[in-house]
Formats: sequence, structure tokens, C-alpha cells
Amino acid sequence: MRPPNIPILGELTPGTKQRHLIKLPGAALANDEPRPVISVAGAKLGPVLFVNAGVHGGEYPAVEAVIRLGKTLDPKKISGTVILMPVLNLPAFRTRTPFVCPIDNVNPNRVFPGDARGSYSEQMTHGLINEFVVHADAYVDLHGGDIPEALVPFVICRAGNDEVAKKSKAIAIAFGLPHVLAVSKPVQPGKGQSSYAAAADKGIPAVLAEAGGVGQMQEEAVSLLVNGVVNVMRHLGMIDDANFEFQISKSETKPNPNETARSAVAATKTSAADTAPSTLLPKFEWLYTKSTGVWYPKVAPGDAVREGEQIGTVGDLFGDTLEEIVSPVNGIVLFLTINPSVLEKGLLMGIGAE
Ligand SMILES: [Zn+2]
Repeated sequence: MRPPNIPILGELTPGTKQRHLIKLPGAALANDEPRPVISVAGAKLGPVLFVNAGVHGGEYPAVEAVIRLGKTLDPKKISGTVILMPVLNLPAFRTRTPFVCPIDNVNPNRVFPGDARGSYSEQMTHGLINEFVVHADAYVDLHGGDIPEALVPFVICRAGNDEVAKKSKAIAIAFGLPHVLAVSKPVQPGKGQSSYAAAADKGIPAVLAEAGGVGQMQEEAVSLLVNGVVNVMRHLGMIDDANFEFQISKSETKPNPNETARSAVAATKTSAADTAPSTLLPKFEWLYTKSTGVWYPKVAPGDAVREGEQIGTVGDLFGDTLEEIVSPVNGIVLFLTINPSVLEKGLLMGIGAE
């Protein structure tokens, strides 16, 4: 095992935890607020795991999970190094902007691995890949439903029979969420691709894990993501103590009363070791409305749907139905747009399909 070498962070002394404020390279990022990064360098050598959240700025449980890991992980008890960045897309986080970065109106998770001479989001993702991801042995990108989205927890990785794809799938399963998608094509067209796919192309096993949504701090979702990263660390051999106990430093807040019973039920799984194995889903179908109007879903995240089943309607402001939304596949609703106002070609839901 080689010692950790992430040049932008400087020297990482084994057995120590450090706070960094990082300026990513790129002319478009020159006036950026520096991004907080925490390095937890284990007393013993081992793999380098890079974990970030906040590629989408309104996915708060993911951001909080990275903050908690930074506060809780003890470098004396781990082998290898964990690098944690709570928020990549800081302009979106500061302005509560869903899906995109407000500086260039680009979804950063469609332009990986980025472009050093591209727009703000392209330079930002280029910096993330080249300053952090390529120096890691594994990469975990934490997400959730963005401000207008509800979802059931799931993990995505790239499908394939090559070594990187196989390692990515093993990490995805080890994470311990109810559903695992191993997909071979981008879920939405873009100039680039998603974080996990770009990392895999660079030879780094990678997954994207999602829990939480609707713009809220959901404690169950935070726990799922924190436990998922710890499960991945165990899978990678970074925790060799069979008695390793991980106490998440819980926030003082009470559970959110607005959380639905359904999302609470979906979020009770805590680790791969004590729960049923994940459902493996090879296809991810995203549904869009043709019409601008009012969205009336008839399903919730976690619901099973059948091909041909009517799963919602879009109406106009007179109350007339403009469009019936029909499931194109047999599968499980993984995420759902919860705001009634939708625009033409607007995203309605994602279905994990068998
Ligand atoms: Zn996201």
C-alpha cells in the first residue's frame, strides 16, 4: 500500500485529521468561496476513499452525512485515508438552487469529467476529478432527491464486465441501500456524464448513493448515507477491527414532522450486515411530461408499477386533463417530482426496472 498522495491537500500525516479550505483550479472559479475538505489519514496504510456531496446544492442529508463523517471518523481506528468534501456545488448550496449551478445554469452531474476550458460547472467537475477522484482508490458521490424530489434510497454504478465495473458493483452492494442500479447508458443526455461513470472511465471504482429529498434534513437519510460509507470502508478493508463501533454524532434536532411514514419506513435499513440484500435493477427509466401544467402523481416513491399502468396525469389550470402518464415498464418508482407545477419536457419520475 502506498501512502496517500493528494497534492492539492499537501502532506497528510498518518493518524491525523485535518481541515482544509480548497480553491479548485480554473479561471471561472478564481473568485470562489474556498471549499471545505476534511482528510482523515489512518494510522495504518490502506486505500484512499474520496467522498463528496453537494454536486446538487439542495440535497441536504448527503451534505450532512459528509459533515458527520468528518466529525466522527477517528484516524487512529482506520487503515487508509478518507477524504471528505461536504459540498462541491457551493454556489447552488448558498442560493438553494436545485439541479444546476446558478452561475452557468448547467447540471454538474451531466458534464463529468468536465473541461478545464469549459463553463463554470465543467471547470468545477474537471477540478474534482483531477484533484481528488483520480488520486483515490474508490469514489463515493452522495446525493438525494433535490428540493422538488422525493425518493427511496438507492445506489447507482456503471454496468459492465470489466474490473472497474465489477468493483463498483461490489461497492454499490456493500453500501447497503434497498436498491442497486447498474446501468450502461447515461440516464439523461448531456455534454458529459455522471460522476460515477466518469470516475469509472478513469479506472476508479465509483458509486453514486441517494437518500433523502424535498429540501429537508431527514435524519434517517443522513444515517443511511453515513452507515453506507462506513459499510464501504469495511468492504475496502479500511476497518479491520471486528469490534469497530461507529456512533454517528447525531444532531440535536427532532425528527422532521413533515416526513411521510413511507419515507421513514424506507429509511430504516442501516447496514448491509443486518438487512436483506439490495434489489438489483439493470434499467433506469425517466419519465417526462409533454405539457406545461399541473402534475397529479398517483404513485409514491417505493411503489411497484406495471407496464401500461396509469401512474399520474398532467392537467391545465381549468382542470382539464392534458396528458395521462403511463408506466413504460414493470419496476419500482425510485424518485418522484413532488411539486405540482411542471413545465413542458419536465422530469416527473424515475423508475428502476427489472
Ligand atoms: Zn443529486
